Amino acid sequence: MDWERVMDRLSSFYGCGDWRVPYLRDHAEDPFQVLIGTVLSQRTRDEATDVASSRLFARYPDPGSLARAPRARVERLIHGTGFYRVKSRAIRQIAQEILDRFHGEVPRTLEELTSLPGVGPKTANCVLVFGYGIPAIPVDTHVHRISNRLGIVRTRTPEETERRLRQVVDRRYWIPLNPLLVQHGQNLCRPISPRCPECPIRNDCATGRALATGRPPPRAQDRPQRRPRPSATSAGAGGLRGAPRGGGASSPRAPARRTSTRSPRGPTRTRTRSPPSRRAGSN
Ligand code: SF4
Repeated sequence: MDWERVMDRLSSFYGCGDWRVPYLRDHAEDPFQVLIGTVLSQRTRDEATDVASSRLFARYPDPGSLARAPRARVERLIHGTGFYRVKSRAIRQIAQEILDRFHGEVPRTLEELTSLPGVGPKTANCVLVFGYGIPAIPVDTHVHRISNRLGIVRTRTPEETERRLRQVVDRRYWIPLNPLLVQHGQNLCRPISPRCPECPIRNDCATGRALATGRPPPRAQDRPQRRPRPSATSAGAGGLRGAPRGGGASSPRAPARRTSTRSPRGPTRTRTRSPPSRRAGSN
């Protein structure tokens, strides 16, 4: 896979500017707010996440204030996000643990981040990328699906995809990979009926090449494995206690995580908006 070319074409197609520009130059964010915002985004539409996050951080912008916040008040502020009662408990626990174990600083390693309650690899990788600018690959449903369609992985779960991508993708492409593929997944490479004839990377894509030559595309591997329904008392890695596991962007029906919908530069597109017609078909 010629990642240089793929990145160039996607950046150009979506008007994202130069993907080589350090991401944090234009997108520096508070790691704590990335962390809490990503938890809030699970099983929640982007718009509702943004409203809830704004309300919450206006009042409780850091671990100290959130850990002390009354439960009922936090619930009111984040009402509108899915499982807001569960999330209210989870985010206050996270804040408290950051105070107790990390001296009030959001940790900077995957291992430490995933040791926080309700924080799984996707959320942790979002903090690394969007909070600290540390190369990592947050794999949501778009990244998982497109990676399989491109033919660079053949995996059944986002977790497998992340492991495989870390092996086969050069580290210099890790940070722009998520924002560009999410953008592509929301526009052309949709879950159903991808618009391959318009795709700027169809010649680099196993599925696009197969369809163009009348061959069957590579066998789809991107249907997530069915997972056992969690009980109200279970807490899985990366799942909220009492909420369905793998929520947010890894769910086939859930919207993309708020932090993963951003382009490396330039405005975020909504999932329903198509690329400008002048770009359609460019290659
Ligand atoms: S050619 Fe089709 S399947 Fe491949 S990346 Fe483009 S839209 Fe997706």
